Amino acid sequence: LVHALNVSKSFHHNEVLKGIDLDVERGQVVCLLGPSGSGKTTFLRCINQLETIDGGRIWVDGDLMGYADRDGKLYRLKDKQIAAQRREIGMVFQRFNLFPHKTALENVTESPIQVKGESRKAARDRATKLLERVGLADRSAMYPAQLSGGQQQRVAIARALAMQPKLMLFDEPTSALDPELVGEVLSVMRELASDGMTMIVVTHEMAFARDVADTVVFMDGGVVVEAGPPREVISNPQHQRTRTFLARLR
Ligand code: ATP
Repeated sequence: LVHALNVSKSFHHNEVLKGIDLDVERGQVVCLLGPSGSGKTTFLRCINQLETIDGGRIWVDGDLMGYADRDGKLYRLKDKQIAAQRREIGMVFQRFNLFPHKTALENVTESPIQVKGESRKAARDRATKLLERVGLADRSAMYPAQLSGGQQQRVAIARALAMQPKLMLFDEPTSALDPELVGEVLSVMRELASDGMTMIVVTHEMAFARDVADTVVFMDGGVVVEAGPPREVISNPQHQRTRTFLARLR
């Protein structure tokens, strides 16, 4: 579903991504691990076009992201076309970024109504089901400030799912949470994975990566150092840099 080829990205003279390759099959979960500053967040943002890449190509479900390819020459798509591509991809951030003046239910119905032009009724029906799915059926009328961080993050997941994305990107979704709230968010993500959602997850939660990921990708210094099933990369890393990183987490 996702095919990234030789993706590079610099900020001024700082080359943050130095030729990243990644393939994600439909229904797979990929966990991105790596030290702070290794480029994980930037790479996620490149996939859904929050950043413009300097080199390489990214396809999602056969669509070349951000560009049209005419006889091998790339042309930047119009903003509207990029927005349409981005709608197919859900993203969940470290900070939940909910609309503070809207209830949980309104947060989930906002984009389907405003962006997709869905009827209020259809949007509400789906939002109700999604809030149920993330265990918040009884919280739908509450405002973000009345919810715990874990509950807010679950609303954020429901909100992303309301757009019926092909792919979900998670950027350290539990790292801003108090430890006792991490489990409820991870368990929603586990269920989503077992329901067949394609997911790319930046995380430091090793147990999640070990149990849920089909592929673990270890990044450092803007390159993929090693990638493979968790039993290889986490349990038996081949590279010293991976070993050092994992040892620090333990
Ligand atoms: P973390 O776990 O800390 O989020 P990361 O692996 O996700 O780390 P990135 O957030 O992708 O790393 O950052 C990689 C590098 O890119 C860092 O040196 C960061 O300062 C730089 N960077 C990221 N975004 C920008 C930006 N908008 N402008 C300038 N530099 C940026």
